This record gives sequence, C-alpha cells and structure tokens, in this order.
Amino acid sequence: MTCKPQGLQALFGGTFDPIHYGHLRPVEALAKQVGLQRVILLPNHVPPHRPQPQASPMQRLEMVQLAVQNNPLFTIDTRELQKSTPSYTLETLSELREELGSTQPLAFIIGQDSLLSINTWYGWEQLLDKCHLLVCARPGYSTHFADPQMQQWLNQHQTDNPRQLSLQAKGLIFIADTPLVNISATEIRQKLSSGDSCNDLIPNAVLEYIQAHHLYQE
Ligand code: ATP
Repeated sequence: MTCKPQGLQALFGGTFDPIHYGHLRPVEALAKQVGLQRVILLPNHVPPHRPQPQASPMQRLEMVQLAVQNNPLFTIDTRELQKSTPSYTLETLSELREELGSTQPLAFIIGQDSLLSINTWYGWEQLLDKCHLLVCARPGYSTHFADPQMQQWLNQHQTDNPRQLSLQAKGLIFIADTPLVNISATEIRQKLSSGDSCNDLIPNAVLEYIQAHHLYQE
C-alpha cells in the first residue's frame, strides 16, 4: 500500500470461502457510483472460535487472485492472512490509517447484512473514526435497523452524496444503490457438496480451481 494521497481508498474484507459474484458485482456497481478507481480485497484470517472455512487461507487467497486476475478495479491486501493470529477489522483499519495519514479518505465496504450486525464487531463505535462505511444492498436484509438507537446512529452518519466521501477522510455511511445479487458462499458450498452447478455464481477460473483441488465436496 502506497502512502501517496490518491482519492478515496476502499477496502473490502471477507472470508471469501469462496469469493463469488455476490461479492464482485455489487462492489463493481458501487465503485461506479462512488467513482472508486480501486478496491482492495482483504481476505480475513478466521478466528479459531468461529466456524472454520473449508478452504485453507492460501486456497481462499488463490481463489481471490483468480477471480480478479483480469479486473483492474481490484487489488489484494494479504496483511490479515499473513499474521499468525486473527485481526479485528478495527485493528487493520487503524494500521492503514497510520500508513495513510489522517487526511486520506478511506472507506470499508460491507454488505447490508454486515451493517445490520455491525454492533457485534469489536470496537464498532470507533470504526467511523478510521474510515467511511460503504454499504452494498443484499437481498433478504432490511434496509433499516430494528433497534432505534442503531437507526439513529445510521441517520447521524449517513450521506446520500458520494462526492462527500472524497472530501472528508472518514465518518460517513453511504448506502449504495447496487444490484441485488442473491448469492452466498454458504449456498455455493452446499451446491458443490451436492454436485449442483455453480456456473453462474462464481467466476470460471475459481470454479476450475475448486474442481482441481476437490474443494467443498463434504
Ligand atoms: P457465508 O455464506 O459463508 O457467510 P458470504 O457469502 O456472506 O459468506 P463473506 O465472505 O462472509 O461472504 O462476506 C464478505 C462481505 O461481503 C460481507 O460484508 C458481506 O455482507 C458481503 N456480501 C457477501 N455476499 C453478498 C451479496 N450477495 N450481496 C451483497 N454483499 C454481500
């Protein structure tokens, strides 16, 4: 990661077990809406107390590499995978904030499901001290919080003006108008284990990798 100021920088974290079009398509649409030149994919190191991904960290990374190999919008940051212990998103964002300086606009991309459960994240109240949040629509998830306090938090920080995201370094939430893509990694793993086709759900190169490495067969 370079330290030169260069417009809004955006990260997209995930387990990517495996990466799929539900990750890629909404984020591509978001990038157009907001004018992102680049999105940095950040594969997570999964904590031992959580259900473990079926693919190894290296396999998840290789699938991410294959998924975006011909797509100049995306780059990959392997910092979380390289550590021997899991990182909290807040820690990674703090590290990036140190590298980029306090005035560089920085954003973290999440799906609507993640927004709705954001108050379960470690140090979630400090996230907006580090970055903006850019939210992609996800089918099946409400556009509002059930908890009025969380809805108030959203209302306080939400902007409808994407240009504001580059004028300010952090602190805003932008709910993007992205296509609803009804795909989850859980559904893909289930389909693969029952031998169903996933052709329209993941890039071909990723599907070939999954087949070559006999992944998700249990
Ligand atoms: P799993 O089914 O294993 O829980 P997942 O498909 O939700 O996985 P993750 O890697 O956990 O994928 O998700 C990373 C990020 O991508 C999260 O912020 C999540 O909200 C978002 N995301 C995943 N799938 C979609 C989708 N279909 N539409 C919009 N956002 C999505």
